[in-house]
Amino acid sequence: DKVDNPYTGAQVYVNPIWSANAAAEPGGDAIADEPTAVWLDRTSAIYGNGSPTTGSMGLEDHLDEALAQGADVIQVVIYNLPGRDCAALASNGELAADEIDEYKNDYIDPIVDIMGQAKYADLKIVNVIEIDSLPNLVTNVAPRATATANCNTMKANGNYQDGISYATAELGSLPNTYNYLDAGHHGWIGWTNNDPQYDNFHSSADMFGTLIGMNGMTADDVQGFITNTANYSVLEEPYWNVDQVVGGKAINQNPDVKWVDWNAYNGEIDFATAFRQELVSNGFNSNIGMLIDTSRNGWGGDYRPTGASTSTNPVTFVDESRIDQRYNKGNWCNQAGAGLGERPQASPEPGIDAYVWIKPPGESDGASEEIPNDEGKGFDEMCDPDYGGNIRNNNNPSGARDDMPLSGHWSSEQFQELLENAYPPV
Ligand code: BGC
Repeated sequence: DKVDNPYTGAQVYVNPIWSANAAAEPGGDAIADEPTAVWLDRTSAIYGNGSPTTGSMGLEDHLDEALAQGADVIQVVIYNLPGRDCAALASNGELAADEIDEYKNDYIDPIVDIMGQAKYADLKIVNVIEIDSLPNLVTNVAPRATATANCNTMKANGNYQDGISYATAELGSLPNTYNYLDAGHHGWIGWTNNDPQYDNFHSSADMFGTLIGMNGMTADDVQGFITNTANYSVLEEPYWNVDQVVGGKAINQNPDVKWVDWNAYNGEIDFATAFRQELVSNGFNSNIGMLIDTSRNGWGGDYRPTGASTSTNPVTFVDESRIDQRYNKGNWCNQAGAGLGERPQASPEPGIDAYVWIKPPGESDGASEEIPNDEGKGFDEMCDPDYGGNIRNNNNPSGARDDMPLSGHWSSEQFQELLENAYPPV
């Protein structure tokens, strides 16, 4: 039988490839033995393709190495949907919008075969399933102004739901796997408006609920959900609340405070806690647990405030009080000034199974400029430090670091900054 929380008391697998990259950096030794996830970011990664992101190790090599480490848990990211990452370009991937059969037959099925081998029976395999996908079908489709052509296509063809339910059902049928579906983050899904045109929170949970029953997927195939994967949203803002009254008005009812912009949540803990309940209301088991990716949401360093602002101007108050230093919560690519967040740990809060490092710190979110490649990686302007933004980040500067390599490739500079701005400090 599957346990309720696979992280309880568990030793979690350290990816030797990431660990070596981290240890080779000045000061990197301090965190090189932290567990990070193994990303199966395209079909060849299952077998080891010698690429800069995957190195020589395939899935079976990692699982064998996990046994050799005596690990109880290994974290694997299932990330190869057709038409992947439809609202961005930096990680579009290799499968075209209609290649759902390739996804099932050439990608998911072999992974299930490998994970199901008898030698891994005692290893708990946490699968983080398809980040940056389903909520796009709520937030980035017509008739919304934020719609993209690719997200409209993926909504129309249903291949995200088909692929994710298939992956979840097939992987869930193994006795040693623990599936966590990606649920965005509070700066994306945290809007709870009663008008469906502006509500992301209820509509996204509802969308997840519709997966149950597809491709034989049941609620029992889902151990939980993960928020903030590869993102920069804070766990909590220690010095202020979104419903606090400043200058005569609650912050989250004040149209001038663009940082909040009516969002009901102020961080991943309050969002994940509430979203967990909402998912249970949509058919998921009452004991599901949440994971939060804390690999890059520390926001320590020189710019971190040490208390609440005394300003009575609500905009100034929020800008001076917030620890998240981004221009806008819609910014997701290589955020300058970010730091490592909480170190991975089990059961940090009620309903939260673990803080995890799914995005390996030091690996790029996308290239700062167009770089030709054979990895299916496009150029996204949100990774260009000079880009002034679009409607999905409320037309703010991208906030991205300069000189960054293709997504998944190592950046020594970014790693150093993450270390420097870590919070808690390293
Ligand atoms: C990239 C993957 C990479 C992953 C982890 C993604 O953005 O597309 O290639 O493995 O990040 O760094």
